[in-house]
Amino acid sequence: MTTNLIWFRNDLRVTDNPALTNACKDQNATVIALYIATPEQWKMHHMSARQAYFIHVRLTELQKELAELNIQLLYQSCNNFTDSIDVIDNICQEYQINQLFYNRQYEFNEHKRDCLLKKKLKNSVKCIELDGNLFTIPLTIRNGKGEMYKVFTPFRNTFLDQFIQTDYHLYEQPEPRENQKIKSKKIPAFDYPTEKFEFFSPITKKALQRLEEFCAEKVEGYTEKRDIPSLDYTSQLSAYLALGVLSVRQCLHYLTQEYPRFWENQKSGAFSWFNELIWREFYQHLMVAHPRLCKHKPFIEWTDNIQWKNNKDHFEQWKAGNTGYPIIDAAMRQLNQTGWMHNRLRMITASFLVKDLLIDWRWGEQYFMSQLTDGDLAANNGGWQWAASTGTDSTPYFRIFNPTTQGQRFDPEGIFIKQWLPELKQVPTKLIHTPHQWAEKVGKPLNYPNPIIIHDIARKVTLEAFEKAKKTD
Ligand code: FAD
Repeated sequence: MTTNLIWFRNDLRVTDNPALTNACKDQNATVIALYIATPEQWKMHHMSARQAYFIHVRLTELQKELAELNIQLLYQSCNNFTDSIDVIDNICQEYQINQLFYNRQYEFNEHKRDCLLKKKLKNSVKCIELDGNLFTIPLTIRNGKGEMYKVFTPFRNTFLDQFIQTDYHLYEQPEPRENQKIKSKKIPAFDYPTEKFEFFSPITKKALQRLEEFCAEKVEGYTEKRDIPSLDYTSQLSAYLALGVLSVRQCLHYLTQEYPRFWENQKSGAFSWFNELIWREFYQHLMVAHPRLCKHKPFIEWTDNIQWKNNKDHFEQWKAGNTGYPIIDAAMRQLNQTGWMHNRLRMITASFLVKDLLIDWRWGEQYFMSQLTDGDLAANNGGWQWAASTGTDSTPYFRIFNPTTQGQRFDPEGIFIKQWLPELKQVPTKLIHTPHQWAEKVGKPLNYPNPIIIHDIARKVTLEAFEKAKKTD
């Protein structure tokens, strides 16, 4: 009689889960599931209280979904990754596990932990590793010289060629196990702060519905509308993808069903959305090819010589959304209040922190992680390094967003700004991006901070700092 253990990590789903499907293949095997919370590790990664809450509510749902398959979900908590190896070892002994199934995680520490685990279980348990969190396996997309791409577009093109040729399938949700009786215990509260929020439902049906509706109703207009934060025209599936409630294969499957051969029109909304999903893939591949990224090292090494100003007051004002630049402040308040921020705004606020305030991008990277529900090491690091011009494929360092004109371009009517900054409701649309000018003109006091820096001066200072650092290369 075989007993299989499936270890859930960042793949909290029963649909399209290769590890689960494979663990259940043998109808005669007993199948048990496990989740291990690692609060110390979460703290090290500055995981947000909202993401912890989302994991908790999602685990509760997963437990119900597994119960319908007659699979018991065991829950354990331990401090860190090294301890989780002992936890697994003990469980394997207690339940007389023969085979352990899991989907690979590609981050440096996670990969190291899995190597140690395999070593430890070598003589007692067969470890079966699968790939379910990306569409492609890292390091399998290479350029003509056999190297990992450093630039997105050629990576995307090679990915697309493979995608078109791949006859991929979704993994079936397993049938309920016969003859298995379960008695799952309620998932206890985490030994980690959690913060309740309503932004993402933890229910699989709702997540799939959001994906389906997005593909059916919004993808078409995605190219034109994705950059306008007030329009709510992106999928808002990021937290589901970060925790693996949905897989990228499911996203591509629904997209292709709705838009077969979408790649034939590269200007289409479907192609633009595909492009974004591949950015996620690109950053994960990069992290495997360059493990120093997991340690928050810049991809472009000379940028480590930049003399940051790191003004703590400025940092606090940026965090709180009190910089005096309406688009920055509205975006930061959206992040602080919901745990999610629109992509265009992530780019603008990140640029402002690094290129206007000359604050080390790692401060911002950490702050985003501490707030985001969709916090993901590779995507967050990739996004920050892109905005800071320290990464591969980055915006060149001399290209610096002007926060006022960015606001005028992407929130021309100030709809988004007024939603998050009610203190600016009275300011007429024409001057919503420069409210102090309006207040001065009409002689009204404004309950809103003055700009904490003057962009044109800050821009020059930043250019000098980058140029000086480059010279020391
Ligand atoms: P959609 O536009 O609908 O895109 C679909 C999916 O594609 C997203 O859910 C996401 O999984 C993926 N995706 C989209 N854009 C990117 C991108 N540029 N890089 C990587 N994946 C992408 N994304 C995260 O998931 N977690 C993060 O911690 C994160 N931090 C970021 C930090 C900065 C500074 C920047 C500039 C971007 C960051 N992103 C991050 C990428 C992007 O902003 C979010 O994925 C996107 O805003 C999520 O909204 P959505 O689901 O509506 O995206």
